[in-house]
Amino acid sequence: MRVDRIIAIVLILSLAACSSEKRLARQAEANAIYEDLDSVEIVVSRENPYRGSATRDMDLLHTRLEVTPDYAEQWLYGKATLKLRPYFMPASTLVIDAKSMQINTVALVKADKTQVSLTYTYDSVQLKIKLDREYTSSETFSIFIDYIAKPNERVVGGSAAISEDRGLYFINPYGREKDKPTQVWTQGETEAASCWFPTIDKPNEKCTSDIFITHDKKYVSLSNGIMVSSTPNKDSSVTDYWKMDLPHSPYLFMMVIGDFSIIKNRWREIEVNYYVEKEYAPYAQQIFGNTPEMMEYFSQKLGFDYPWQKYSQISVRDYVSGAMENTTATLHTELLQRTSRELLDETYEDYVSHELFHQWFGDLVTCESWSNTPLNESFATYGEWLWNEYKYGKEYADYKNYGNYKGYMGESEKGKNVDLIRFYYEDREDMFDKHSYDKGGYLLRYLQTIVGDDAFFKSLELYLKTNQFKPVEIHNLRLAFEEVTGRDMNWFFNQWFLNSGHPVLDIKYNYTTDSVFVTINQRQNTDKGLVYQLPFKLNVHYGKNIDKHQEILTKRNQTFGYKAYGTPSLIDFDGERVVLCQKTENKTVDNYVFQYNNSGNYVAKMEALEKLAEEQKKSDPARYALQSALNDKFFDVRRYAIEQIRISEANKETVLPEIEILARGDKYSKVREAAIKKLDFQRDNKFLPVFEAALSDSSYIVAAAALRAISNLDATKALEKTKLFEGDMNININDAVADVYATKADQSYQAAFEDKVHKSIPSNKYLLMYYYANFLCRMDDKNTVLKGLDFLYNESEPSESRTLTSAGKGTVKRVMDYYERKRKIDDKQLSIADKAEQLEIQERINNYDVIISKAKEHYDDLVIKMREFK
Ligand SMILES: [Zn+2]
Repeated sequence: MRVDRIIAIVLILSLAACSSEKRLARQAEANAIYEDLDSVEIVVSRENPYRGSATRDMDLLHTRLEVTPDYAEQWLYGKATLKLRPYFMPASTLVIDAKSMQINTVALVKADKTQVSLTYTYDSVQLKIKLDREYTSSETFSIFIDYIAKPNERVVGGSAAISEDRGLYFINPYGREKDKPTQVWTQGETEAASCWFPTIDKPNEKCTSDIFITHDKKYVSLSNGIMVSSTPNKDSSVTDYWKMDLPHSPYLFMMVIGDFSIIKNRWREIEVNYYVEKEYAPYAQQIFGNTPEMMEYFSQKLGFDYPWQKYSQISVRDYVSGAMENTTATLHTELLQRTSRELLDETYEDYVSHELFHQWFGDLVTCESWSNTPLNESFATYGEWLWNEYKYGKEYADYKNYGNYKGYMGESEKGKNVDLIRFYYEDREDMFDKHSYDKGGYLLRYLQTIVGDDAFFKSLELYLKTNQFKPVEIHNLRLAFEEVTGRDMNWFFNQWFLNSGHPVLDIKYNYTTDSVFVTINQRQNTDKGLVYQLPFKLNVHYGKNIDKHQEILTKRNQTFGYKAYGTPSLIDFDGERVVLCQKTENKTVDNYVFQYNNSGNYVAKMEALEKLAEEQKKSDPARYALQSALNDKFFDVRRYAIEQIRISEANKETVLPEIEILARGDKYSKVREAAIKKLDFQRDNKFLPVFEAALSDSSYIVAAAALRAISNLDATKALEKTKLFEGDMNININDAVADVYATKADQSYQAAFEDKVHKSIPSNKYLLMYYYANFLCRMDDKNTVLKGLDFLYNESEPSESRTLTSAGKGTVKRVMDYYERKRKIDDKQLSIADKAEQLEIQERINNYDVIISKAKEHYDDLVIKMREFK
């Protein structure tokens, strides 16, 4: 799964309700005490229960499903035939996960296909079935269940990764939302597959499947494996038969029904298809087109060919996360549907590589329990790095990976410091955090550099071959590395995967005429006495020559000494920047300038620039280095230098013209955008021509920055310029347009504003509604505000999306609160005003009362509507 960070940000901005208290309460961590590095005594948190792998009483061998959606009720009619056998011990009862279903029949299917009813109990979560007799593990039997899945009657949970967990979603089922397609899609992970079919809903279960999907012939379906047939029925429906003859876990089962264009591609003999809405068909190759090359690269790198029968990717509406690696059929958020112009700014290709890598790590080899989630997610995150390095170069891959480093460090600084492999957590959705993704992905890269490329990929190949179609735990991975390398690897996995935190290093570099010394002090306070064992590279630079050393830090306080060959220009710990740590170093400004100029490593360069940015006010060399970084060969370094460089009287004559050149002509849109923003800060009319030219930039983010910059100099002109973007639906430009509408608050633009909001996809709509509420607060005209309140209500009330309704409720309240405050001020004024003024104020108060009363009415309605979602 790939967590959608954008949605999370939008949710905060849109005033949507969230359950942060619950999440804060979950930050209790499992405490581990280290006796030494090779034998671990785990002392567990006493607050949360132990989360081991699910007990396997029964083995599910095969699932046959016949399903038909009912849009009016938002139900799924299903007939499931499950083939099972006792796992080891003989058994006469069977427990099946089946959440919020109506169960019509439970029967044993005999060899002659006749059915015998079985007795069962059902508590809306699990079916407990009494079999006709005791079965041994050498016998199989088949159970038939006729059911109706009623996902909306489920009490939903949720997390940062998955905002709801009803398993089966009907999008715009009544067609009430114009300009929005009607779709059905599923989301199994973590344990919501059992919301749409009865199963043993645990990651350590795997089975084959035949899925028959009956749907209106105007739609297409997508599911796991190969579509064997599509048979028309007597009515206007067809039945698609999807066959998956390799075992995979129930949470990876999927189904989508909707109106999609299918763009066909191939990798070797395997079909690679992209499902998008018609308008995006022309861009599907640009969005997903690198998939076959990725499949080839990953297959070769892993020594294990892509294991499945086909590979499809689909983009659906209102998805609850970023993307999901359903076996052979990855499901993506609608954000992946982008035009060529939008793709210039962001491709979302990391989603594509992440989910594809999961087809090996997660789907073929699956974490046996959610405690082992990093075996899925750390690998998929590492897969992004692997592809980026191959396709776009190491600097680009490091740039992305530095984001992972900061992601994990940010989560750690906020107080979440938990073991990567966690057996004690409150909610399994908590596993989908920056530890499992960012930290684990970063560590796999570190592991790669420790054992070397050959051993690393050989180990992964062995791990995949040994454990294919099986559940795994972290030790399976360690054992593969130990078998291939012939080295004990407990130290690595214990300190990194079975422990929390990271090393905090104080590094002191010193030298004399004949020696170089590096003293490293491990200052982390883990309460567990853990001293990390850290292999690292130490580089001593003498001008263009580098004296390189491979070392292992093993002590809390350790000094390494080398022969000096003159005065070092730089002594540098971890030259490749692969060690996951926080560090303080006694480097000078000159050292950092040298580091920036001579380290080819993106992270080392950024570290240097971060320090030089702090020093630029008092140090000329720091300032010059930052200025020279404006012309760095790597785009993100240029972007960073633009953002950080301080403009002063002393340098403005030299620096601003350079930035203007970048604004007008840099190859990368993110650099042009940063340059426009920098010029915008100057609030200088002389840059107006630069901004006006940038309105027709090929990139939306550049045009958006330019529109905002114009607005800061001349709001009337900016409002006029919004007309250039009337037909555009891109969120970056619409965000800027809405900002201008709200700032200038010109009533004649109300219709244009509403059109923008109305046509936006939900994840963009929240943001625009927020601006629209600001617009209404600046209006003051009763009729305009009343019309606007009706508009906000109509945009959110008929929606089937909880988040959108919540955003509607928030924005209506925003307007209501604002006019209540104004009314209070006028109330006070009224008592001190003279007669003539009183009339005027009283009229205003009357108008506010009408507005407040209308807002209150809509707000109350939306509160009721929110309750109905539960
Ligand atoms: Zn993932």
